[in-house]
Amino acid sequence: MVPRVVFGRGSFNQLNEILAPKRVSIDAPFIYLIDAVFKNNNWLTSRLSLSYDDRIIFVSTEEEPKTSQVDALVESIILTTKALPSGIIGIGGGSVLDLAKAVSLMLTNEGEAKDYQGWDLIKNPGIYHVGIPTISGTGAEVSRTTVLMGPEKKLGINSDFTPFDQVILDSELTKDVPKDQWFYTGMDCYIHCIESLTGSYLNTFSQTYGDMALGLCKEIFLENNLSEIELQEKLMMASWHGGMSIAYSQVGVAHAMSYGLSYLLGIKHGIGNCIVFDHLEEFYPEGVAIFKAMKQKHNIALPQGICSNLSDTEFDVMITIALNLVPLWENALGKNWKSIITPKKLKELYLKM
Ligand code: NAD
Ligand code: ZN
Repeated sequence: MVPRVVFGRGSFNQLNEILAPKRVSIDAPFIYLIDAVFKNNNWLTSRLSLSYDDRIIFVSTEEEPKTSQVDALVESIILTTKALPSGIIGIGGGSVLDLAKAVSLMLTNEGEAKDYQGWDLIKNPGIYHVGIPTISGTGAEVSRTTVLMGPEKKLGINSDFTPFDQVILDSELTKDVPKDQWFYTGMDCYIHCIESLTGSYLNTFSQTYGDMALGLCKEIFLENNLSEIELQEKLMMASWHGGMSIAYSQVGVAHAMSYGLSYLLGIKHGIGNCIVFDHLEEFYPEGVAIFKAMKQKHNIALPQGICSNLSDTEFDVMITIALNLVPLWENALGKNWKSIITPKKLKELYLKM
């Protein structure tokens, strides 16, 4: 779990005070990984106080984070700093938060990031790392994974060393998120809740957080009486609780299939989950009905026919990626999931999307 959290509108201003005692030496800089959307946003960057060799690296989030991108960042940091950094600070959405976690881990673990995609393969604690979300929903700010696209698979580096040492939850940072993206990333949280709460891995710990997050999502996406600030604050907490819920359970069918879409077609996580979930009535009847109501209320039109022109080889790639996510299927459908989900069944489902 994340050991230290600050919550509140404007709490981003506490960052400098939080970091100061963590500086190891004047040769050990703080490296800020910031979503490039903030490059010309003085409102955010002017509040960072850079000293000595501290540095901002702006990262594009057009594509989801890759293992090769993590390796390149680690190499450039090692080559240009006199000592290991004092800390890595990720400021952005799930993409940047995951990059920050991965870079922190790979600065202290040998080899390449792809070698650690899986469960509990990391041997050494990472560099001190801080997460500051600027869009809410993924739960990446609280989770023990960092999801990366590798040469062979899209899979997280799941370990006890992955969670941030410190998180700052300042909902004001999310005020300029575009409406469609707000919905897609928000639905990632909603889908985390449905998949966790209906899964066979559920226990009381997961259920408690999942119920809380699901209630918040229903309020946020279905009710009319919340102010902008309430909407932003509640989604930030929904994301946190949704992430906590899956920390002790798992996601399910939508995530497994969405990983396939993302690997083959580069479709991003939030929208990919929405595209898949829209067709999963058979597995999550109540959850999908509510999702459709949310979609309608916010006038969201999802892409259609994205799999209609794929070749058999492409389907095979996507299906293999999805089927490899064994814990997700087991959580969703129980130990005998292979009797329900066959490659043929998956192809039928993908063809609907
Ligand atoms: P994202 O980080 O890719 O950002 C989506 C878009 O929103 C980008 O264009 C970004 O520039 C923009 N954006 C972010 N903050 C903004 C702001 N304040 N104002 C304006 N624009 C802003 O999206 P995401 O949905 O947060 O993250 C998706 C990633 O998270 C995927 O790579 C996925 O694999 C990963 N993920 C990780 C976990 C985990 O537990 N580690 C869980 C779920 C998803
Ligand atoms: Zn997700």
